[in-house]
Amino acid sequence: MSNEQPKIPQATAKRLPLYYRFLKNLYASGKQRVSSAELSEAVKVDSATIRRDFSYFGALGKKGYGYNVSYLLSFFRKTLDQDEITEVALVGVGNLGTAFLNYNFMKNNNTKIVMAFDVDQAKVGTEVGGVPVYHLNQLEELIHEQISVAILTVPAHAAQSITDRLVQKGIKGILNFTPARLNVPENIRVHHIDLAIELQSLVYFLKNYPSESNGV
Ligand code: ATP
Repeated sequence: MSNEQPKIPQATAKRLPLYYRFLKNLYASGKQRVSSAELSEAVKVDSATIRRDFSYFGALGKKGYGYNVSYLLSFFRKTLDQDEITEVALVGVGNLGTAFLNYNFMKNNNTKIVMAFDVDQAKVGTEVGGVPVYHLNQLEELIHEQISVAILTVPAHAAQSITDRLVQKGIKGILNFTPARLNVPENIRVHHIDLAIELQSLVYFLKNYPSESNGV
């Protein structure tokens, strides 16, 4: 399927889920078209960037008309593999891990946490948000090839050794919520989200650049 898709720059690809979520809501509310100005306001990306992004999708907005919502939606669905569920494993069913299991992302896109691991015997054998929690010892036995992504919500000191085991089992992407910097082979993608640092940096910006809006 992806063979027929044009190659999209990484920065554009990162904005796709944002556009997709907004357009899905528009479509659900019965809107047929949308201007780049409206989109810009809603997703907080400047309209020149939106127009450039959308030109990669073969969606050329018409002056006074805007973009066709259903065309864009079907493009995004194909590009983001929305018809296929990406299965995800989560390691570390603490406060953060539990929140993710309960949330489970299905409202926004087709990624689904299908199993979780922990070392705490009180958690092993339970289900959280409908997701079974297994002992970490069972990681090698249970992670199968449909699972390409893992979420790490363990204490920092446990992160690297678990990462090594996940990579060994063929995981391709890791969403790392621990403060640990992970070493992985080149073909593995790690997205690092340190919530404490994000919060600190937000507070820093508010204090030091109070009048500027976001510079993302
Ligand atoms: P959070 O940081 O998610 O708020 P917490 O404060 O509840 O977590 P942490 O000590 O950070 O607890 O541990 C998160 C979870 O990771 C706990 O459920 C803990 O049992 C689990 N955990 C700890 N060490 C390991 C490990 N080596 N492998 C897997 N899970 C682990």
